[in-house]
Formats: sequence, C-alpha cells, structure tokens
Amino acid sequence: MMAPSVGTGASSLMAATTDGLFPIARPRRNARPASLSAGIIVLVFFMVAIVATGFAFIDAQQRALDVHREAAESMRTTLDLLTEADSIITRLAVGDEAASLTDYYGALEALGALSAANMPLLDPYLAGETGALAAAQLLESDWTEAVRLASMADLAGARALLIDRDTGGLVRELRDAEDNFLEQWTARFSIYEERIAIGTWVVLLLQVAGGTLAIVGLIHAYRLSRVEANGRAAAVAYADASRDQVKKLFDMADVLQVAADHTDANAVLRATAADLVPGFPGALYIFNNSRDRLVLTSFWDRGTDQPLPETIPPSQCWALKRGKPHLNHANGSKLCCDHHSTGDAVLEIPMMARGEFLGLLQLFARGDEAEARLLAVENMGAALADGMSLALANIALREKLRNQALRDPLTGLYNRRYMEDTLTRFVRLAEREQRTLSVIMIDLDNFKRLNDEHGHAMGDAVLRETASTIVSSLRETDVACRYGGEELIVILPDCELDKAAEKAELLRLRIESLSATHNTAISASFGVASIPHTSHATTDLLAAADAALYRAKQGGRNCVMKAPRRIGRPELAHDDVIELMPRQAAE
Ligand code: GH3
Ligand code: MG
Ligand code: MG
Repeated sequence: MMAPSVGTGASSLMAATTDGLFPIARPRRNARPASLSAGIIVLVFFMVAIVATGFAFIDAQQRALDVHREAAESMRTTLDLLTEADSIITRLAVGDEAASLTDYYGALEALGALSAANMPLLDPYLAGETGALAAAQLLESDWTEAVRLASMADLAGARALLIDRDTGGLVRELRDAEDNFLEQWTARFSIYEERIAIGTWVVLLLQVAGGTLAIVGLIHAYRLSRVEANGRAAAVAYADASRDQVKKLFDMADVLQVAADHTDANAVLRATAADLVPGFPGALYIFNNSRDRLVLTSFWDRGTDQPLPETIPPSQCWALKRGKPHLNHANGSKLCCDHHSTGDAVLEIPMMARGEFLGLLQLFARGDEAEARLLAVENMGAALADGMSLALANIALREKLRNQALRDPLTGLYNRRYMEDTLTRFVRLAEREQRTLSVIMIDLDNFKRLNDEHGHAMGDAVLRETASTIVSSLRETDVACRYGGEELIVILPDCELDKAAEKAELLRLRIESLSATHNTAISASFGVASIPHTSHATTDLLAAADAALYRAKQGGRNCVMKAPRRIGRPELAHDDVIELMPRQAAE
C-alpha cells in the first residue's frame, strides 16, 4: 500500500522548528493598536497645526486692533491739540494773561505732525465741501492772524476776527466729525475683539482636546507597551516550549536509532508520548509479515476495561486508505473506521517510511471537547509517528539483514551455520537443565531423479513447499534448518525421542501428500535422535540422527527411524526402530 502524503521523520522534525507542531497556542500579533496609535499621532499633529494657526490668527487680530486703537488715540490727540490751540487763542483774544503762546506753538507743532495723516479720515463725517485738513489749515491761518492782531494790542480786532471766522464753530464741527469717526472706529474694535475671543476659545478648546488626546495616547502607548511586553514574554515562552519539544523529539529519534527491536522502540515511544502528548492514551499497530493485518503491539494509559482489537484489517482504516491522519468521533458520527468503537474519540495517524506503510499510531481522548483536543495535538502525534516510522523501518531492515545472514534464501529456513550454533546452545541448555532435546534429520527421497525428470525449477518448488510444510507443522520454539542440498534438520527442544518420532511421522505424511499436487512421487526419509535418550553431545546427536536416517534409506525410504537408545538407560528396553506406517514404495 502506498500513500502520497505522509512525511518522513526528518521532515516532521524540521517542521517542528518552524510552525504549528505544538499543542501550545502560538502568541498572536494584534495590528489594531498600531493603527490606533498612528491615528492618534496624526490627530495630535493636526491639532497642534490648528492651535498654531489659531495663535497666528489671534496675533494678527490683536495687532490689527492695536493699530486701530493707536489710530483712534492719534485722532483724539489731534482734535485735543486743535481744541487746545483754539482755546489758547480765544483766551489770548480776551486778554487772559495766562494764555501762553509757547503752549500754542507747541500744540501747533504737534498738530502739524498729526493732522496730515488724521484729518483726511474725518472728511466722510463733515457736511461741507471743505475737507478737514483744509479746515485745519484755515483755522491755523485765522489763529496766526489773531495772534498778529493781539501782539499789536488789537485784542478787539483779534476777537472780531475769531467771531467772524467762527473758529470755535469750526473746531466743534471737527470734533463732532471726530466723535462720529471714533464711534464707527470703535465698532471695528469690537469685531477684532470678537475674533480674538473666538480664536482664544478655539485655541483653548483645542488645547484641552489635544491634552486629553495626548493623555489618551500616553495611556494607549502604555497599554501597547504592556501588550507588546506580554507578547514578547509569550513568544519567548512559546519558543522555549517549542525548543523543549523539538529536543524531546530529537532525543526520541536518537534513542530509537539504537532500538534493537520492537520492544525497545515501543518503550521509547511510550515514554516520549507521555512527555509530549500527556493525558492522551495511545496504541501502536504494526503490519504483520504478510501485510494483510495491523497487529496491536503496544498501548499505554488505557485501562483493561477498554480492550482494543488485537488486529485491524487495513482495508477498514480510513487513515491508511487516505494516507493521512483521520479522526474517529467519539459518537461515531461523520466518517468512521469499521474497527472504531464509540466512547473514545480516536486520532489515527498512519506511519510511513521509505514509501511504505509500517503501522498506525492511535491517540485517544474522551469527555469534553475530545475531538478538539485531539486535533490540537495532531501535528505532535504526526511527528511522533514519523519519528517512530523511521525506527520501525530500520528495525525491519536490520531484521531483514539478520535473516539474510541466518536464513537460506530458497526455503527461508535457517542455514547450516545458524543450526550448528543453535544446536550447540540447545544441547548445553538441555544438559545443564536436565531437559530433553531431539533432532529430526530429513532427506528427500530420490530427489536427483525428481530433478532429472521434472527439471530443477520443480525441484526447487518441492523443496520450498516441503520447507513450509515442515514449518507450519512445528511449535514456535522448534527450529527448522536446511542442512544442505535436499537435507533438512528440525531441532525440537523439550521433546523426547518418541514424541519427536511421532512428529517426524506427521511430517512424513504431510510431505508425502505433496505428491498429489505435483503429480509425482514425493517423499522423505527421517532419522530421529535425542538427548539424553540416544546421545549426549552435539556431534553425537547429529551423527545418531544421520545414522538413523541412513537406516531409513536402507530400509526402503519414506519412513522414520529412531537412533538406538544409549546403553545403561533402562528405558531402552524396546526396539529402537519404529516404522509408524507401512512403507510405501517411493521408487
Ligand atoms: P536418496 O533418496 O538416496 O537421497 O536419493 P537422492 O537422489 O535424493 O540423493 P542424491 O544425494 O543422490 O541426490 C541429491 C540431489 O538433490 C542432487 C541434487 O541435484 C539435488 N539437489 C540438491 N540441492 C538442490 C536444490 O537446491 N535444488 C534442486 N532442484 N535440487 C537440489
Ligand atoms: Mg541427500
Ligand atoms: Mg535424497
């Protein structure tokens, strides 16, 4: 069975260093605070700009107001000087000694500097054709004439002139014009003052708003920095936890490298799973040799009241069929594997290495949000499965290599070297522990002729079938070997001579029954020897079995011969040759 999408252990460990492997929440970055603070900065900037513009506006209005005030003041001074000059001249004309010509000329001089600028401003407020400046000059020349008359002691002439010219009336007329001017001018003051007041309020409000915003901004910045700091702390914690988990995965991969067999590998998986996916019971299924079933090889944290199926047919498993992790829901809803029994939610992760499925890792959860909790550890489970897959592939490879060194390639039986080692070990064990041990030496009858008549290929096929017939008839502890050519040996620990002979007879019958399939006579001869009944050492045992076999050949083939029992052993009373069934002519 092939699957496209299951990664290797290495790829999962690499993924572990990048993203999404861990059942820990990855800290999230929040984009909102950044845009909010940018918004606040822009707003504050605009407020500062508006406040600055406001200040400039207020300043301009203030200056315009000052200019107007100065102009009004200047106008008032002008008219005061005019009034004062007229008053001095009038008092001079009535002979007032206190009237000072010095003051008059002083006022006249000051007036000269102001009237050119101010007098024309009164023109719109005068009734007559004459402008205010011309009127002032007229007054000045009348006053000069009056001074001249007074200086010639002609006070009456001077008074008559002033009355005639009505200088007092003209001054009043100018003053009235000034009053009207100032009235309108003052109205302009209030416009500027109003603008200044509005500007001041706007600036003040903006300052308050800006200050508030600045405080909000500061609080926000503080919160932001707290969030950032928490985020950084969470990121550091996440990185630490990730590193720790990756280290554990690498440790597992490391230890698995030296796992000698499945027992070792299962122990490592159980220990690592308890560390990396704590609180999730698990089970491991591995393909059998014929690859038609997944066999339960290990489980952990599961009570005995929750038995697991001993085997799972791969065709019933969605994880294997889809080639990716599959979740069987606790209530059996959605797509569920046939082997799934309700109660637990089960995450099933296919294990694959070098393009071949090797097994299935199961993680169990029950109770609240069982499915969600399993999905949260899916990546970690996949990394575990991947790490384990490689180890299983390596163990399988090592077993294959060992088998190649120990087994005969044609029959799959152990080879002669392995047989000799094993036999020596078994004999020592039997002697030390006073146990029995038998060997059956088997030689196919007339095999040369079978080869000659039907070809070497058929000879090979008969050898293979004979081997598998023998293996399928033995106990698990028995060892079948190819001794050489068409000679085979079976070692039967804890089996005494007669039982071994019975087993040999069974084998003889089964081998003989292959004749029907191949439509030719197939049979074998058997020599049986055992410790302690017939022999006491490895060489003795083989020699005795060989001798018995020789006698079986001599006796007409297709029969079983036991080696003679050793002298001195009382149980050797009966015949040492048994022919358990009438010999059939194999020739
Ligand atoms: P006997 O009954 O006396 O044992 O006669 P036999 O012909 O079986 O004995 P012999 O020792 O004369 O011949 C053994 C034959 O087994 C010779 C050889 O061609 C054949 N043989 C040995 N190994 C293999 C093998 O791997 N494949 C095949 N096809 N034949 C083999
Ligand atoms: Mg032979
Ligand atoms: Mg033979």
